[in-house]
Amino acid sequence: MVPVEIAYDGSMLTENQQEALYELVDAARYMDKIFQRQVYNKNVTIKMVLQAGKNPDYPVLLEYFDLCFGPFDRLENNKPFINLDTPKPPGANFYPEDMKREEFEQWVQQHPQEKDSFESNFTVVRREDQRLIAIPYSQAYREELNPAHDLLKNAAELVENESLKTYLNSRAEAFLSNDYFQSDMDWMDLNGNRIEIVIGPYEVYEDKLFGYKASFEAFVTLVDPVESEKLHRVSQYLKEMEHNLPIPEEYMNTKRGSASPIVVVQEVFNAGDAKSGIQTTAFNLPNDERVRQARGSKKVMLKNIARAKFDKCWIPIVEEVIQPDILHFVKFDAYFNHVLMHEMSHGMGPGFIMKNGQETSVNIELQETYPTIEEAKADILGLYNTQFLINKGFLPDSLETQTYVTYLGGIFRSVRFGITSAHGGANAIEYNYIKEKGGFEYDPDSGTFGVNLKKIKGAVRNLAHDLLMIEAKGDYKASRDFIGKYRYLPEEIQNALDRLINVPIDIRPVYVIEKEMEQNRL
Ligand code: ZN
Repeated sequence: MVPVEIAYDGSMLTENQQEALYELVDAARYMDKIFQRQVYNKNVTIKMVLQAGKNPDYPVLLEYFDLCFGPFDRLENNKPFINLDTPKPPGANFYPEDMKREEFEQWVQQHPQEKDSFESNFTVVRREDQRLIAIPYSQAYREELNPAHDLLKNAAELVENESLKTYLNSRAEAFLSNDYFQSDMDWMDLNGNRIEIVIGPYEVYEDKLFGYKASFEAFVTLVDPVESEKLHRVSQYLKEMEHNLPIPEEYMNTKRGSASPIVVVQEVFNAGDAKSGIQTTAFNLPNDERVRQARGSKKVMLKNIARAKFDKCWIPIVEEVIQPDILHFVKFDAYFNHVLMHEMSHGMGPGFIMKNGQETSVNIELQETYPTIEEAKADILGLYNTQFLINKGFLPDSLETQTYVTYLGGIFRSVRFGITSAHGGANAIEYNYIKEKGGFEYDPDSGTFGVNLKKIKGAVRNLAHDLLMIEAKGDYKASRDFIGKYRYLPEEIQNALDRLINVPIDIRPVYVIEKEMEQNRL
Protein backbone atom coordinates (compact mmCIF):
# COMPACT_ATOMS: atom_id res chain seq x y z
CA MET A 1 0.00 0.00 0.00
CA VAL A 2 1.71 3.12 -1.14
CA PRO A 3 0.39 6.45 0.23
CA VAL A 4 -0.67 8.94 -2.46
CA GLU A 5 -1.89 12.50 -2.01
CA ILE A 6 -5.31 12.89 -3.59
CA ALA A 7 -5.79 16.53 -4.53
CA TYR A 8 -8.77 18.15 -6.23
CA ASP A 9 -9.18 21.14 -8.49
CA GLY A 10 -11.31 23.59 -6.54
CA SER A 11 -10.57 26.54 -8.82
CA MET A 12 -13.97 26.35 -10.50
CA LEU A 13 -15.94 26.22 -7.26
CA THR A 14 -17.81 29.22 -5.91
CA GLU A 15 -17.23 30.15 -2.30
CA ASN A 16 -20.54 28.56 -1.32
CA GLN A 17 -19.76 25.37 -3.20
CA GLN A 18 -16.39 25.14 -1.45
CA GLU A 19 -18.12 25.60 1.89
CA ALA A 20 -20.68 22.95 0.98
CA LEU A 21 -17.87 20.58 0.07
CA TYR A 22 -16.41 20.95 3.58
CA GLU A 23 -19.81 20.25 5.13
CA LEU A 24 -20.11 17.13 2.98
CA VAL A 25 -16.68 15.87 4.01
CA ASP A 26 -17.70 16.34 7.64
CA ALA A 27 -20.90 14.40 6.99
CA ALA A 28 -18.88 11.67 5.24
CA ARG A 29 -16.64 11.33 8.31
CA TYR A 30 -19.67 10.17 10.27
CA MET A 31 -19.91 7.32 7.75
CA ASP A 32 -16.40 6.32 8.86
CA LYS A 33 -17.62 6.21 12.45
CA ILE A 34 -20.70 4.16 11.63
CA PHE A 35 -18.85 1.71 9.44
CA GLN A 36 -16.26 1.18 12.15
CA ARG A 37 -19.10 0.20 14.50
CA GLN A 38 -20.67 -2.02 11.84
CA VAL A 39 -17.54 -4.10 11.24
CA TYR A 40 -16.82 -5.37 14.76
CA ASN A 41 -18.37 -4.84 18.17
CA LYS A 42 -15.01 -4.32 19.93
CA ASN A 43 -13.69 -1.81 17.40
CA VAL A 44 -14.30 1.27 19.50
CA THR A 45 -12.44 -0.21 22.45
CA ILE A 46 -9.54 -1.52 20.36
CA LYS A 47 -9.11 1.84 18.68
CA MET A 48 -9.02 3.61 22.05
CA VAL A 49 -6.23 1.30 23.23
CA LEU A 50 -4.23 1.84 20.03
CA GLN A 51 -4.69 5.60 20.26
CA ALA A 52 -3.43 5.63 23.85
CA GLY A 53 -0.15 4.48 22.26
CA LYS A 54 1.33 2.56 25.24
CA ASN A 55 3.44 0.44 22.87
CA PRO A 56 5.85 1.64 20.14
CA ASP A 57 4.06 -0.59 17.58
CA TYR A 58 0.70 1.07 18.15
CA PRO A 59 0.93 3.98 15.69
CA VAL A 60 1.66 1.59 12.80
CA LEU A 61 -1.09 -0.77 13.94
CA LEU A 62 -3.50 2.15 14.27
CA GLU A 63 -2.83 3.17 10.69
CA TYR A 64 -3.53 -0.34 9.47
CA PHE A 65 -6.58 -0.56 11.74
CA ASP A 66 -7.96 2.56 10.06
CA LEU A 67 -7.33 1.12 6.61
CA CYS A 68 -9.08 -2.16 7.47
CA PHE A 69 -11.73 -0.59 9.74
CA GLY A 70 -10.90 -3.10 12.41
CA PRO A 71 -8.28 -5.60 13.57
CA PHE A 72 -8.88 -8.02 10.67
CA ASP A 73 -6.61 -7.82 7.63
CA ARG A 74 -8.75 -7.18 4.54
CA LEU A 75 -5.85 -8.04 2.25
CA GLU A 76 -5.19 -11.38 3.99
CA ASN A 77 -8.61 -13.02 4.19
CA ASN A 78 -9.51 -11.11 7.36
CA LYS A 79 -6.81 -12.71 9.48
CA PRO A 80 -6.48 -10.75 12.77
CA PHE A 81 -3.31 -8.63 12.78
CA ILE A 82 -3.36 -7.89 16.50
CA ASN A 83 -3.57 -10.41 19.34
CA LEU A 84 -7.13 -11.65 19.26
CA ASP A 85 -8.42 -15.07 20.12
CA THR A 86 -11.44 -14.83 17.80
CA PRO A 87 -11.74 -14.76 14.01
CA LYS A 88 -13.90 -12.07 12.38
CA PRO A 89 -17.58 -12.86 12.96
CA PRO A 90 -19.19 -13.67 9.56
CA GLY A 91 -22.11 -11.40 10.38
CA ALA A 92 -19.72 -8.58 11.35
CA ASN A 93 -21.50 -6.46 13.98
CA PHE A 94 -24.89 -6.60 12.26
CA TYR A 95 -26.02 -9.50 14.46
CA PRO A 96 -25.12 -10.75 17.95
CA GLU A 97 -21.58 -12.13 17.66
CA ASP A 98 -22.58 -15.63 18.82
CA MET A 99 -25.80 -15.83 16.76
CA LYS A 100 -25.93 -18.68 14.25
CA ARG A 101 -27.90 -18.74 11.00
CA GLU A 102 -30.31 -21.29 12.48
CA GLU A 103 -31.28 -19.05 15.40
CA PHE A 104 -32.13 -16.20 13.03
CA GLU A 105 -34.04 -18.45 10.64
CA GLN A 106 -35.97 -20.09 13.42
CA TRP A 107 -36.93 -16.73 14.90
CA VAL A 108 -38.21 -15.45 11.56
CA GLN A 109 -40.16 -18.67 11.02
CA GLN A 110 -41.83 -18.36 14.41
CA HIS A 111 -42.43 -14.60 14.02
CA PRO A 112 -43.40 -14.17 10.34
CA GLN A 113 -44.62 -10.60 11.01
CA GLU A 114 -40.99 -9.68 11.84
CA LYS A 115 -39.51 -11.20 8.67
CA ASP A 116 -39.31 -7.93 6.74
CA SER A 117 -37.64 -5.97 9.50
CA PHE A 118 -35.16 -8.78 10.21
CA GLU A 119 -34.17 -9.17 6.57
CA SER A 120 -34.16 -5.42 5.90
CA ASN A 121 -30.97 -3.88 4.50
CA PHE A 122 -31.29 -1.11 7.07
CA THR A 123 -31.64 -2.79 10.48
CA VAL A 124 -29.26 -4.44 12.95
CA VAL A 125 -30.30 -7.52 14.88
CA ARG A 126 -29.67 -7.67 18.63
CA ARG A 127 -30.51 -10.03 21.44
CA GLU A 128 -32.42 -8.79 24.46
CA ASP A 129 -33.50 -11.15 27.27
CA GLN A 130 -33.37 -14.24 25.03
CA ARG A 131 -35.34 -12.42 22.34
CA LEU A 132 -33.98 -11.30 18.98
CA ILE A 133 -34.97 -7.79 17.94
CA ALA A 134 -34.40 -5.75 14.78
CA ILE A 135 -33.38 -2.12 15.33
CA PRO A 136 -33.57 0.39 12.45
CA TYR A 137 -30.27 2.07 11.49
CA SER A 138 -31.90 5.44 12.18
CA GLN A 139 -32.07 4.39 15.83
CA ALA A 140 -28.95 2.22 16.14
CA TYR A 141 -26.69 4.91 14.64
CA ARG A 142 -28.64 7.95 15.85
CA GLU A 143 -25.52 9.42 17.42
CA GLU A 144 -23.85 9.68 14.00
CA LEU A 145 -26.86 10.05 11.70
CA ASN A 146 -28.36 13.06 13.50
CA PRO A 147 -25.30 15.27 13.00
CA ALA A 148 -24.79 13.89 9.48
CA HIS A 149 -28.39 14.92 8.76
CA ASP A 150 -27.66 18.47 9.93
CA LEU A 151 -24.51 18.71 7.81
CA LEU A 152 -26.32 17.59 4.66
CA LYS A 153 -29.03 20.16 5.37
CA ASN A 154 -26.38 22.89 5.72
CA ALA A 155 -24.81 21.86 2.43
CA ALA A 156 -28.23 21.88 0.74
CA GLU A 157 -28.63 25.50 1.85
CA LEU A 158 -25.30 26.42 0.27
CA VAL A 159 -25.63 24.83 -3.18
CA GLU A 160 -27.67 26.37 -5.98
CA ASN A 161 -28.26 23.37 -8.24
CA GLU A 162 -31.86 22.24 -7.61
CA SER A 163 -31.27 18.54 -8.23
CA LEU A 164 -28.38 18.48 -5.75
CA LYS A 165 -30.39 20.44 -3.16
CA THR A 166 -33.22 17.91 -3.53
CA TYR A 167 -30.93 14.93 -3.09
CA LEU A 168 -29.13 16.36 -0.05
CA ASN A 169 -32.42 17.20 1.64
CA SER A 170 -34.08 13.85 0.91
CA ARG A 171 -30.97 11.90 1.92
CA ALA A 172 -30.81 13.87 5.17
CA GLU A 173 -34.47 12.93 5.82
CA ALA A 174 -33.69 9.28 5.05
CA PHE A 175 -31.07 9.25 7.81
CA LEU A 176 -33.91 9.97 10.26
CA SER A 177 -36.79 8.07 8.64
CA ASN A 178 -34.75 4.98 7.59
CA ASP A 179 -36.53 5.05 4.20
CA TYR A 180 -33.96 5.50 1.43
CA PHE A 181 -36.14 4.98 -1.65
CA GLN A 182 -36.94 8.58 -2.60
CA SER A 183 -33.40 9.80 -2.06
CA ASP A 184 -32.04 6.98 -4.28
CA MET A 185 -34.46 8.17 -6.97
CA ASP A 186 -33.25 11.76 -6.45
CA TRP A 187 -29.64 10.62 -6.79
CA MET A 188 -30.39 9.25 -10.25
CA ASP A 189 -31.83 12.66 -11.18
CA LEU A 190 -28.69 14.64 -10.24
CA ASN A 191 -27.98 16.86 -13.20
CA GLY A 192 -25.74 19.77 -14.15
CA ASN A 193 -24.08 20.19 -10.76
CA ARG A 194 -20.36 20.37 -10.12
CA ILE A 195 -20.47 18.43 -6.84
CA GLU A 196 -21.44 14.77 -7.08
CA ILE A 197 -21.90 12.92 -3.79
CA VAL A 198 -23.25 9.60 -2.72
CA ILE A 199 -23.67 8.97 1.00
CA GLY A 200 -25.50 6.32 2.98
CA PRO A 201 -25.89 2.55 3.41
CA TYR A 202 -25.28 0.61 0.16
CA GLU A 203 -23.24 -2.57 -0.30
CA VAL A 204 -24.04 -5.73 1.65
CA TYR A 205 -20.71 -7.58 1.22
CA GLU A 206 -19.63 -6.95 4.81
CA ASP A 207 -22.52 -9.16 5.97
CA LYS A 208 -21.07 -12.58 5.12
CA LEU A 209 -23.74 -14.34 7.19
CA PHE A 210 -26.80 -13.42 5.10
CA GLY A 211 -25.83 -10.56 2.77
CA TYR A 212 -28.79 -8.50 4.05
CA LYS A 213 -27.20 -5.61 5.89
CA ALA A 214 -25.91 -2.53 4.08
CA SER A 215 -22.66 -0.80 5.07
CA PHE A 216 -22.39 2.97 5.33
CA GLU A 217 -20.09 4.75 2.89
CA ALA A 218 -19.60 8.02 1.05
CA PHE A 219 -17.91 9.31 -2.08
CA VAL A 220 -17.52 13.09 -2.19
CA THR A 221 -16.48 14.02 -5.75
CA LEU A 222 -16.39 16.75 -8.40
CA VAL A 223 -17.66 16.13 -11.93
CA ASP A 224 -14.93 16.22 -14.61
CA PRO A 225 -16.40 18.53 -17.27
CA VAL A 226 -13.98 17.60 -20.10
CA GLU A 227 -14.45 13.84 -19.79
CA SER A 228 -18.19 14.17 -19.35
CA GLU A 229 -18.43 16.19 -22.56
CA LYS A 230 -16.37 13.56 -24.40
CA LEU A 231 -18.67 10.78 -23.17
CA HIS A 232 -21.66 12.73 -24.30
CA ARG A 233 -20.22 13.06 -27.80
CA VAL A 234 -19.22 9.37 -27.94
CA SER A 235 -22.77 8.38 -27.06
CA GLN A 236 -23.94 9.97 -30.32
CA TYR A 237 -22.05 7.18 -32.16
CA LEU A 238 -23.73 4.36 -30.18
CA LYS A 239 -26.11 3.26 -32.94
CA GLU A 240 -23.36 3.29 -35.55
CA MET A 241 -21.09 1.32 -33.26
CA GLU A 242 -23.80 -1.29 -32.67
CA HIS A 243 -24.19 -1.72 -36.45
CA ASN A 244 -20.44 -2.01 -36.85
CA LEU A 245 -20.17 -5.06 -34.53
CA PRO A 246 -18.68 -8.12 -36.32
CA ILE A 247 -21.80 -10.32 -36.17
CA PRO A 248 -24.63 -11.03 -38.63
CA GLU A 249 -27.40 -8.42 -38.77
CA GLU A 250 -29.98 -10.80 -37.27
CA TYR A 251 -28.05 -11.00 -33.98
CA MET A 252 -27.60 -7.27 -33.57
CA ASN A 253 -29.31 -5.60 -30.69
CA THR A 254 -30.66 -2.36 -32.04
CA LYS A 255 -33.62 -1.86 -29.74
CA ARG A 256 -31.80 -1.96 -26.42
CA GLY A 257 -32.99 0.75 -24.05
CA SER A 258 -30.70 3.59 -23.10
CA ALA A 259 -27.57 2.27 -21.42
CA SER A 260 -26.94 3.33 -17.84
CA PRO A 261 -25.39 6.81 -17.67
CA ILE A 262 -21.68 7.16 -16.94
CA VAL A 263 -20.25 10.11 -15.02
CA VAL A 264 -16.52 10.84 -14.76
CA VAL A 265 -15.46 12.52 -11.51
CA GLN A 266 -12.47 13.38 -9.35
CA GLU A 267 -12.64 11.91 -5.88
CA VAL A 268 -12.27 14.54 -3.17
CA PHE A 269 -12.84 12.28 -0.17
CA ASN A 270 -14.29 8.87 0.55
CA ALA A 271 -15.47 7.24 3.73
CA GLY A 272 -16.65 4.07 5.40
CA ASP A 273 -17.01 0.87 3.40
CA ALA A 274 -15.67 2.66 0.28
CA LYS A 275 -12.44 3.56 2.09
CA SER A 276 -11.67 0.12 3.50
CA GLY A 277 -9.14 -2.21 1.85
CA ILE A 278 -8.62 -2.01 -1.93
CA GLN A 279 -9.60 1.38 -3.41
CA THR A 280 -12.27 1.33 -6.08
CA THR A 281 -11.96 3.26 -9.36
CA ALA A 282 -15.65 2.97 -10.30
CA PHE A 283 -19.00 2.18 -8.72
CA ASN A 284 -22.49 1.48 -9.95
CA LEU A 285 -25.43 2.51 -7.78
CA PRO A 286 -28.08 2.41 -6.43
CA ASN A 287 -28.73 -1.23 -5.60
CA ASP A 288 -32.46 -0.91 -4.83
CA GLU A 289 -34.16 -2.95 -7.59
CA ARG A 290 -37.25 -0.71 -7.48
CA VAL A 291 -35.09 2.31 -8.33
CA ARG A 292 -33.22 0.38 -11.04
CA GLN A 293 -36.54 -0.57 -12.64
CA ALA A 294 -37.80 2.98 -12.62
CA ARG A 295 -34.64 4.97 -13.30
CA GLY A 296 -31.83 2.53 -14.15
CA SER A 297 -28.48 2.87 -12.41
CA LYS A 298 -25.51 5.19 -12.73
CA LYS A 299 -21.84 4.35 -13.17
CA VAL A 300 -19.41 6.78 -11.57
CA MET A 301 -15.73 6.62 -12.62
CA LEU A 302 -13.08 8.08 -10.29
CA LYS A 303 -10.48 9.43 -12.69
CA ASN A 304 -7.88 10.70 -10.20
CA ILE A 305 -7.93 7.41 -8.30
CA ALA A 306 -7.42 5.58 -11.60
CA ARG A 307 -4.51 7.91 -12.33
CA ALA A 308 -2.89 7.30 -8.94
CA LYS A 309 -3.16 3.53 -9.36
CA PHE A 310 -1.82 3.81 -12.90
CA ASP A 311 1.26 5.72 -11.75
CA LYS A 312 2.01 3.69 -8.63
CA CYS A 313 0.83 0.14 -9.29
CA TRP A 314 0.71 -0.08 -13.08
CA ILE A 315 3.75 1.66 -14.52
CA PRO A 316 6.20 -0.41 -12.40
CA ILE A 317 4.62 -3.54 -13.92
CA VAL A 318 4.78 -2.46 -17.55
CA GLU A 319 8.37 -1.28 -17.12
CA GLU A 320 9.21 -4.84 -16.18
CA VAL A 321 7.22 -6.72 -18.84
CA ILE A 322 6.83 -4.54 -21.97
CA GLN A 323 9.56 -4.41 -24.63
CA PRO A 324 11.69 -1.33 -23.87
CA ASP A 325 11.42 0.17 -27.38
CA ILE A 326 7.61 0.42 -27.20
CA LEU A 327 7.36 1.42 -23.55
CA HIS A 328 6.82 5.07 -24.47
CA PHE A 329 3.46 4.12 -26.03
CA VAL A 330 2.04 3.28 -22.59
CA LYS A 331 -0.12 6.30 -21.70
CA PHE A 332 -2.66 7.10 -19.02
CA ASP A 333 -5.03 8.69 -21.54
CA ALA A 334 -5.04 5.52 -23.64
CA TYR A 335 -5.69 3.48 -20.50
CA PHE A 336 -8.53 5.67 -19.28
CA ASN A 337 -10.10 5.86 -22.73
CA HIS A 338 -10.15 2.06 -22.80
CA VAL A 339 -11.72 1.92 -19.35
CA LEU A 340 -14.50 4.25 -20.52
CA MET A 341 -15.03 2.30 -23.72
CA HIS A 342 -15.08 -0.93 -21.69
CA GLU A 343 -17.91 0.43 -19.53
CA MET A 344 -19.83 1.70 -22.52
CA SER A 345 -19.38 -1.65 -24.30
CA HIS A 346 -21.11 -3.50 -21.46
CA GLY A 347 -24.28 -1.87 -22.78
CA MET A 348 -23.72 -3.09 -26.35
CA GLY A 349 -24.32 -6.44 -28.06
CA PRO A 350 -26.95 -9.06 -27.19
CA GLY A 351 -28.82 -8.65 -23.88
CA PHE A 352 -32.28 -10.13 -24.19
CA ILE A 353 -32.26 -12.94 -26.78
CA MET A 354 -34.61 -15.51 -28.32
CA LYS A 355 -33.83 -19.16 -27.70
CA ASN A 356 -36.06 -22.03 -28.83
CA GLY A 357 -38.79 -19.52 -29.54
CA GLN A 358 -38.68 -18.10 -26.02
CA GLU A 359 -37.41 -14.75 -24.82
CA THR A 360 -34.57 -15.09 -22.34
CA SER A 361 -31.41 -13.20 -21.42
CA VAL A 362 -27.72 -13.83 -22.01
CA ASN A 363 -26.84 -13.92 -18.31
CA ILE A 364 -29.52 -16.52 -17.53
CA GLU A 365 -28.40 -18.77 -20.39
CA LEU A 366 -24.66 -18.55 -19.76
CA GLN A 367 -25.04 -19.12 -16.00
CA GLU A 368 -21.76 -19.03 -14.02
CA THR A 369 -19.71 -18.50 -17.21
CA TYR A 370 -21.48 -15.21 -17.91
CA PRO A 371 -19.34 -12.77 -15.85
CA THR A 372 -16.09 -13.98 -17.45
CA ILE A 373 -17.45 -13.89 -21.03
CA GLU A 374 -19.12 -10.52 -20.43
CA GLU A 375 -15.92 -8.95 -19.02
CA ALA A 376 -13.91 -10.28 -21.98
CA LYS A 377 -16.55 -8.90 -24.33
CA ALA A 378 -16.36 -5.45 -22.73
CA ASP A 379 -12.54 -5.41 -22.89
CA ILE A 380 -12.44 -6.49 -26.52
CA LEU A 381 -15.30 -4.28 -27.70
CA GLY A 382 -13.54 -1.48 -25.81
CA LEU A 383 -10.61 -1.93 -28.22
CA TYR A 384 -12.82 -2.56 -31.23
CA ASN A 385 -14.92 0.56 -30.63
CA THR A 386 -11.84 2.70 -29.93
CA GLN A 387 -10.49 1.61 -33.33
CA PHE A 388 -13.86 2.51 -34.88
CA LEU A 389 -13.75 6.01 -33.38
CA ILE A 390 -10.14 6.46 -34.55
CA ASN A 391 -11.13 5.41 -38.09
CA LYS A 392 -14.02 7.89 -37.91
CA GLY A 393 -11.59 10.65 -37.02
CA PHE A 394 -13.32 11.22 -33.67
CA LEU A 395 -10.28 10.00 -31.70
CA PRO A 396 -6.69 10.90 -32.76
CA ASP A 397 -4.57 8.49 -34.84
CA SER A 398 -1.83 8.67 -32.22
CA LEU A 399 -4.12 6.78 -29.86
CA GLU A 400 -4.03 3.62 -31.99
CA THR A 401 -0.62 2.18 -31.07
CA GLN A 402 -0.92 3.58 -27.55
CA THR A 403 -4.21 1.76 -27.04
CA TYR A 404 -2.89 -1.70 -27.97
CA VAL A 405 0.41 -1.41 -26.10
CA THR A 406 -1.22 0.06 -22.99
CA TYR A 407 -3.88 -2.66 -23.11
CA LEU A 408 -1.18 -5.36 -23.21
CA GLY A 409 0.43 -3.82 -20.12
CA GLY A 410 -2.91 -3.86 -18.31
CA ILE A 411 -3.29 -7.60 -18.76
CA PHE A 412 -0.46 -8.20 -16.31
CA ARG A 413 -2.07 -6.02 -13.66
CA SER A 414 -5.39 -7.88 -14.08
CA VAL A 415 -4.06 -11.44 -13.89
CA ARG A 416 -1.71 -10.58 -11.05
CA PHE A 417 -4.35 -11.43 -8.44
CA GLY A 418 -5.46 -14.67 -10.07
CA ILE A 419 -7.61 -15.79 -12.97
CA THR A 420 -10.59 -17.11 -11.01
CA SER A 421 -12.19 -13.67 -10.80
CA ALA A 422 -14.20 -12.59 -13.85
CA HIS A 423 -11.71 -9.83 -14.67
CA GLY A 424 -8.59 -11.94 -14.23
CA GLY A 425 -10.08 -14.85 -16.18
CA ALA A 426 -11.20 -12.60 -19.01
CA ASN A 427 -7.72 -11.12 -19.33
CA ALA A 428 -6.09 -14.57 -19.49
CA ILE A 429 -8.53 -15.55 -22.26
CA GLU A 430 -7.81 -12.37 -24.19
CA TYR A 431 -4.04 -12.77 -23.93
CA ASN A 432 -4.01 -16.41 -25.06
CA TYR A 433 -6.42 -15.84 -27.92
CA ILE A 434 -4.62 -12.78 -29.31
CA LYS A 435 -1.22 -14.46 -28.87
CA GLU A 436 -2.49 -17.50 -30.81
CA LYS A 437 -3.51 -15.20 -33.67
CA GLY A 438 -0.13 -13.46 -33.64
CA GLY A 439 -1.32 -10.14 -32.18
CA PHE A 440 0.99 -10.38 -29.14
CA GLU A 441 4.62 -11.44 -29.26
CA TYR A 442 6.93 -12.74 -26.58
CA ASP A 443 10.70 -12.47 -26.54
CA PRO A 444 12.07 -15.30 -24.37
CA ASP A 445 15.57 -13.80 -24.17
CA SER A 446 14.49 -10.63 -22.39
CA GLY A 447 11.24 -12.06 -20.96
CA THR A 448 9.33 -9.08 -22.39
CA PHE A 449 6.19 -8.72 -24.48
CA GLY A 450 5.20 -6.74 -27.56
CA VAL A 451 2.35 -6.08 -29.98
CA ASN A 452 2.16 -7.01 -33.68
CA LEU A 453 0.18 -4.07 -35.01
CA LYS A 454 -0.55 -5.76 -38.34
CA LYS A 455 -2.14 -8.78 -36.70
CA ILE A 456 -3.78 -7.46 -33.54
CA LYS A 457 -6.69 -5.70 -35.25
CA GLY A 458 -7.78 -8.92 -36.96
CA ALA A 459 -7.33 -10.87 -33.73
CA VAL A 460 -9.50 -8.39 -31.83
CA ARG A 461 -12.17 -8.54 -34.52
CA ASN A 462 -12.21 -12.36 -34.47
CA LEU A 463 -12.36 -12.50 -30.70
CA ALA A 464 -15.17 -9.92 -30.63
CA HIS A 465 -17.07 -12.10 -33.10
CA ASP A 466 -16.57 -15.32 -31.11
CA LEU A 467 -17.60 -13.76 -27.79
CA LEU A 468 -20.62 -11.96 -29.25
CA MET A 469 -21.84 -15.14 -30.94
CA ILE A 470 -21.66 -17.10 -27.67
CA GLU A 471 -23.83 -14.38 -26.13
CA ALA A 472 -26.16 -14.00 -29.13
CA LYS A 473 -26.94 -17.73 -29.12
CA GLY A 474 -26.93 -18.02 -25.32
CA ASP A 475 -24.74 -21.06 -25.90
CA TYR A 476 -23.72 -22.34 -22.46
CA LYS A 477 -21.68 -25.27 -23.77
CA ALA A 478 -19.75 -23.12 -26.24
CA SER A 479 -19.09 -20.67 -23.41
CA ARG A 480 -17.68 -23.38 -21.15
CA ASP A 481 -15.55 -24.84 -23.93
CA PHE A 482 -14.19 -21.42 -24.85
CA ILE A 483 -13.24 -20.64 -21.25
CA GLY A 484 -11.81 -24.15 -20.88
CA LYS A 485 -9.58 -23.63 -23.91
CA TYR A 486 -8.28 -20.11 -23.26
CA ARG A 487 -8.41 -19.38 -19.54
CA TYR A 488 -4.99 -20.42 -18.22
CA LEU A 489 -1.78 -18.68 -17.22
CA PRO A 490 0.97 -19.53 -19.72
CA GLU A 491 4.45 -20.01 -18.35
CA GLU A 492 5.79 -16.79 -19.88
CA ILE A 493 3.16 -14.76 -17.98
CA GLN A 494 3.74 -16.66 -14.75
CA ASN A 495 7.47 -15.99 -15.03
CA ALA A 496 6.84 -12.31 -15.64
CA LEU A 497 4.52 -12.11 -12.61
CA ASP A 498 7.15 -13.75 -10.44
CA ARG A 499 9.38 -10.75 -11.10
CA LEU A 500 6.81 -8.29 -9.70
CA ILE A 501 7.06 -8.97 -5.96
CA ASN A 502 8.05 -5.42 -5.06
CA VAL A 503 5.29 -3.65 -6.97
CA PRO A 504 2.69 -2.16 -4.59
CA ILE A 505 -0.68 -3.90 -4.57
CA ASP A 506 -2.70 -0.75 -4.11
CA ILE A 507 -2.66 2.89 -3.09
CA ARG A 508 -3.63 4.42 0.24
CA PRO A 509 -5.21 7.81 -0.46
CA VAL A 510 -4.20 10.79 1.67
CA TYR A 511 -6.84 13.44 1.10
CA VAL A 512 -5.60 16.98 0.63
CA ILE A 513 -9.00 18.40 1.59
CA GLU A 514 -8.58 17.07 5.14
CA LYS A 515 -5.35 19.04 5.65
CA GLU A 516 -6.99 22.08 4.09
CA MET A 517 -9.91 21.85 6.52
CA GLU A 518 -7.60 21.46 9.49
CA GLN A 519 -5.70 24.60 8.50
CA ASN A 520 -8.86 26.60 7.89
CA ARG A 521 -10.12 25.75 11.35
CA LEU A 522 -6.99 26.62 13.29
ZN1 ZN B 1 -16.57 -4.62 -16.81
